[in-house]
Amino acid sequence: MARATMVGRGPMSTLPVEDPRHALNVMPGVKGGHDGLPGQMRVVVPVSHHHRRRSIPVADLAEGVLAGDRVMLARAITLVESNAPAHFEQAQELITRILPRAGGSVRVGITGVPGAGKSTLIEALGMTLVEAGHKLAVTAVDPSSILTGGSILGDKTRMEKLSAHPSAFIRPSPSGGALGGVARKTRETILLFEAAGYDVVLVETVGVGQSEVTVRSMVDFFLLVLAPGAGDELQGIKKGVVELADAVLINKADGASRNLALLSRADYERALHYIQPSTEGWMTPALAASAMSGEGLPELWMKVQAFLDHTRGRGLFEQRRRDQERAWMRAMVEEQLKERFFAHPQVQALLPELEQAVVGGTLPAASAAARLLKAFDEA
Ligand code: GDP
Repeated sequence: MARATMVGRGPMSTLPVEDPRHALNVMPGVKGGHDGLPGQMRVVVPVSHHHRRRSIPVADLAEGVLAGDRVMLARAITLVESNAPAHFEQAQELITRILPRAGGSVRVGITGVPGAGKSTLIEALGMTLVEAGHKLAVTAVDPSSILTGGSILGDKTRMEKLSAHPSAFIRPSPSGGALGGVARKTRETILLFEAAGYDVVLVETVGVGQSEVTVRSMVDFFLLVLAPGAGDELQGIKKGVVELADAVLINKADGASRNLALLSRADYERALHYIQPSTEGWMTPALAASAMSGEGLPELWMKVQAFLDHTRGRGLFEQRRRDQERAWMRAMVEEQLKERFFAHPQVQALLPELEQAVVGGTLPAASAAARLLKAFDEA
C-alpha cells in the first residue's frame, strides 16, 4: 500500500475505543493482522542493525508503555519511527490505544543556534526537574538528521548525568523522510512519553529551515536560547523566530560574558515590547541565566509555571492543543494529497508538456492547473 493512501483509512476510524488498561486482551475484530494472525496484530519491531527481534503484539507494547516500562517505551518509539508501510497501521493502533492516557505533560520546545547552550541547559534544568520529582522526557527535531541520518541528542555524553537518571528518558531525533515525517514521529513520540507517565517533555531543535515552526506547532511553551552579545543576524537567528517564543533566554550570564548577557537581556526586553506576543495576552519575557552554573534556571521554570497559569486560566492552553491537533491533521491531508497528486500516472504523463506550454507562454498557468486537476479527479 502506498504511504499516501494511509491516513484516514487506518484502524483509527474502525477500531473500537477500548480502555487501554485492558489492552492486553485480544481486541476482537481488529483489521489486518499483518502476519496472518487473526484478531491480534503483531509487531516485528524494526531495528537498525539488521537482526530481527522477537515480535511484540501491539497490545503488549501498549501495556508496557502504560506501565512506564522503559524498554517497551523505546520499542514503541522505534515502531512509530519506522518508515516501513506495514508498520504504519500497527503504530496507529498503538497510538489509538494509548491516546486516552496521553496529553498529561507540559510540552516545552527549545530552540537556538548550535553553541547557544541548549544541551547544557537541558542537562541542568532537567536535573533540577527530576530531582524535584518530575519525570522528564527529551527528544529533538533535527533538520540535519533529515538529510544525513545523523542526529543531535544522539550523543548522550552531552547530557551525561541526565541520561543516567532513572526519571529521565532521552530519545534522539528521528531521521529519515521529509520534515513532515519527522514531525509525525516526534508528535507520536510525545504521546508515548505522556502515556508512560512523563510529565515534562522537552523538544529541542536547531534553528534551520522550518524546524522552529514545526516544533512550535507541537509544544505548549516555546523557549528561544541565545548566546549573549551578538545581534540576531550575527547569531544566525532567522527573522520571525523571536515572534514564536514565549520566553527568550540569554544564556552564559556568567564570568566574562555576564555583563554582556545582562545588556542583551535588556535589549531583548525592549524589543519584545514591539512585537506581537506568541501567546495571547502573554508578555514574552527576556531572561538571563547560566546553564553552566544553574543561576537563573529556577526563575526560568517559574516563568513556565506563570505561563501555564496564564494559559490554563483563560482556556488558552487547551485551545492551543486543540488547534494544534486540527492543524496537524489538515497538514497531513494536504501533504499526502500533494504527494498523491504528483505521483499520479495521468498527472505525470501530462505534466511535462503542460509545463512546457506554460513556460513557453502558449497556455495560461490556470488552464494547465485545471487540466491536471481534471486528469487527477477523473482517473
Ligand atoms: P548547543 O549546541 O546549543 O546544545 O550548546 P551546548 O550546550 O553544547 O554548549 C555550547 C558551548 O557553550 C559548550 O562549550 C558549553 O560548555 C558552553 N556553555 C553552555 N552553557 C554555558 C553557560 O551558561 N556559560 C558558559 N560560560 N558556557 C556555556
